Amino acid sequence: MNFQFQTGQFVMLKIPGSLENREYSVYSGENDDFLEVLVREVEGGKVSGKLKKLKPGEEIDVNGPFGFFKFNPEKYSSKKFLFVATGTGISPFHSFVRTFPELDYKLVHGVRLKEEAYEHFDFQKEKVTLCLSGDEGGDFYGRVTDFLFTQKIDPETNCFLCGNSEMIYDVFDILTGKGVPVANIYSEVYF
Ligand SMILES: Cc1cc2nc3c(=O)[nH]c(=O)nc-3n(C[C@H](O)[C@H](O)[C@H](O)COP(=O)(O)OP(=O)(O)OC[C@H]3O[C@@H](n4cnc5c(N)ncnc54)[C@H](O)[C@@H]3O)c2cc1C
Repeated sequence: MNFQFQTGQFVMLKIPGSLENREYSVYSGENDDFLEVLVREVEGGKVSGKLKKLKPGEEIDVNGPFGFFKFNPEKYSSKKFLFVATGTGISPFHSFVRTFPELDYKLVHGVRLKEEAYEHFDFQKEKVTLCLSGDEGGDFYGRVTDFLFTQKIDPETNCFLCGNSEMIYDVFDILTGKGVPVANIYSEVYF
């Protein structure tokens, strides 16, 4: 594939002929021979709805890569990683894990309902905690913040957060309250 990116980056997608561009994190891994994104349809949204309706073979404009949420485990002295995502915020972490399958990580993923959870099969099951805030059947009933409150977190852990800004602020406070230095927390805000 003639498109190079670093895992964690995003692309700008546009329907040809329209004026609106939107950011979408790359979901596929650096070594995949395809480019994949995970799109949630936002009600009344100008771009996401059109992306969801695309049929195989239809073309879209792709620009990028962009962004600084780049990930390379070699850069960190501690090799322990915590990934916290809400909704499609799981996308960059999927790319991390496809690119570096040997990672020592824990993924905490929050959605409201079980059917909003997306597939987790590229993640190792024992490394994932699915938090459902409005449904039974996950690993934890409640928000990612409720779950993190219950956890002991090694301050050496490198923590990556991706999703809506409210979650990121709240998780940031929880992690720093548990002794994780600010320098070990990295975030990508979607909205
Ligand atoms: C760095 C980055 C990476 C992103 N990666 C992804 C990704 O991987 N997958 C993905 O699905 N989205 C991702 N997003 C969000 C995406 O860029 C769009 O904002 C989203 O798809 C909505 O676009 P739209 O044109 O359909 O809605 P718009 O026409 O922009 O908005 C329509 C209405 O919906 C509201 N709205 C917009 N976005 C949201 C939202 N996320 N939740 C609730 N209400 C909303 C707006 O306030 C407005 O009222 C990312 C955003 C950023 C900044």
